[in-house]
Amino acid sequence: NTEEPWKPFNRSRVYMADLESTLHYSLRSELAAYPSIRGAALNALKKYISVLKKYFPGRPMVMNLLWSADSWLQKQTGDAVSYEAFREILDNSEQLPDTALPEGLTWVGCQGSQPHFRRYPCGVWTLFHVLTVQAMNSSDPQEVLSAMRDYIGIFFGCRPCAEHFKTMAEESMAEVITTKMAVLWLWTIHNRVNNRLAGALSEDPNFPKIEWPSPELCSACHTVKENGDHKWNQEEVLPFFVSYYSKNTILTDYLE
Ligand code: FAD
Repeated sequence: NTEEPWKPFNRSRVYMADLESTLHYSLRSELAAYPSIRGAALNALKKYISVLKKYFPGRPMVMNLLWSADSWLQKQTGDAVSYEAFREILDNSEQLPDTALPEGLTWVGCQGSQPHFRRYPCGVWTLFHVLTVQAMNSSDPQEVLSAMRDYIGIFFGCRPCAEHFKTMAEESMAEVITTKMAVLWLWTIHNRVNNRLAGALSEDPNFPKIEWPSPELCSACHTVKENGDHKWNQEEVLPFFVSYYSKNTILTDYLE
């Protein structure tokens, strides 16, 4: 899998292959580290799957699987579930028609120039940006962000990343009182992480960490203050962001 040929892709688009690969890795690898999922971890998993069921802009087959996983989890009223039992649902052991989460990893927009670059963490950011945009008509502005905070906080394999993210959420997530603010909050937090990681060893030289979107992607998003400093034009960032991460602009290339 590490020797796969490079797949040509459009750097200004989002790919469903990355989103499905992220779900596969999250639900079949990351979660598998927890043979028994209980207490706060079980609540976090329930919230994560519930948000995916509501907002993941997936193919019908994947949505059917998320519905099935959500309804199974909602029925689990005990303190713990075994990963093995959850995995049977994920693998659709009941053989429900047109219900599946495809196996395997096909990174496209999240390909790295080396196997240790990008991939799953890139997919996680992409997934949650897509979900905040899909949830813009929701009545609960914190729904997606709190599901992300709890999933990352408990399950994300990169523990220092999870700790940083939880700290940032504690500092400012409570200020999010509209779904537009939720979209922009995650945008701001992601840029803060990009700034912190610029030049670090984890940076793929072919994908330098910059404040996103670059002027090439959205020139109207950038303005200058009177003193010459850079300033974001949030009025432009939001519509650009919504279109970039919206369901109908996601490309389905490389899906099986
Ligand atoms: P990523 O930062 O993963 O971004 C993926 C894509 O999202 C980019 O290619 C771009 O198209 C788009 N994008 C970039 N910025 C924004 C933005 N502001 N808003 C919307 N879209 C944007 N790594 C560490 O070494 N230390 C950490 O503390 C750390 N914390 C993390 C916390 C979380 C919650 C996550 C999900 C990841 C974290 N990582 C951390 C990993 C790191 O942020 C990158 O995901 C990883 O280095 C891969 O980088 P990338 O080049 O693929 O771009």
